[in-house]
Amino acid sequence: MSKGYSLSAETKSVLNKYNIRLNHKLGQNFLIDANKRNQIIEYGNISPDETILEIGPGIGTLSLEIAKKAKRLICIEQDRKVADILQKRAMEESIDNIEIINEDALKVDFPEFDKIISNLPYQISSPITFKLLEYPFKSGILMYQREFADRMTANVGSKNYSRLSAMLYFKVDVEFLMNVPSECFMPKPKVDSTVVRLTPNDRFKEDGKLFRNYSRICKALFQHKNKKAENSLINSRHEIDYSDKKELKNNLKSIESERLEDLLEKRVINLSPEDILDLTKELEDIL
Ligand code: SAH
Repeated sequence: MSKGYSLSAETKSVLNKYNIRLNHKLGQNFLIDANKRNQIIEYGNISPDETILEIGPGIGTLSLEIAKKAKRLICIEQDRKVADILQKRAMEESIDNIEIINEDALKVDFPEFDKIISNLPYQISSPITFKLLEYPFKSGILMYQREFADRMTANVGSKNYSRLSAMLYFKVDVEFLMNVPSECFMPKPKVDSTVVRLTPNDRFKEDGKLFRNYSRICKALFQHKNKKAENSLINSRHEIDYSDKKELKNNLKSIESERLEDLLEKRVINLSPEDILDLTKELEDIL
């Protein structure tokens, strides 16, 4: 019997024992591949003095192993029934360093933590990632839907390069670790998954207003990522609070800068995050 099979049998038996019906809306797809689980734990490189945060622990497939290596594990799980099972399983294994917060992870403040390790509920991938970036941490080992991870890791000019790629660039380095096919979950989801490592960087040292403007410009630009930047901005002008086309056109013309002209001529998909930041700075007076 392979290890993968035994974790699958164990998951089935836990779900039967507690008579759990999986809730699709909460993205409940439990990991049943022991090799993948072990690899995720290894990537975490957990030391005994670290506090780990886990979002959406489910019945504890990752949690029980993380807790054995860490000082403390804090889990945020929205589903009360599932959270109770995790609590019982931890007690059965005499694990006493897991703290479970039975809440929606988007609605509670995160406690202090060193690292985050999670197989995330995919329906909240984007908001939970941006929320995470507001907290200090050493590193994150996170599983996402593959398409989302592809956009996180995409390089400038490639087909998956997107607003997400440009927004993450100034906050965090994203490293591809491994793909996890849909067969590794129960029930089997429609999508494949990817594990990435996030390492916060401090590329963005300037004030909050500039980053807010960068974010608005990204939002406008990436609505039309194959167009020239100028046309994209004009077409999505509502994102930068312009309703009148002519007014924006005239304002763009009023700025005398060769760098700005160059940037506006490029297709959005070919603008690096640094280019977009320059563009934001060039436009500051008219935003
Ligand atoms: N990590 C587990 C379970 C993944 S399934 C494993 O790998 O097996 C995702 C889990 O996230 C489910 O248990 C679901 O109940 C929980 N969840 C979904 N939305 C949530 C939210 N907003 N806040 C906290 N937990 C959530």
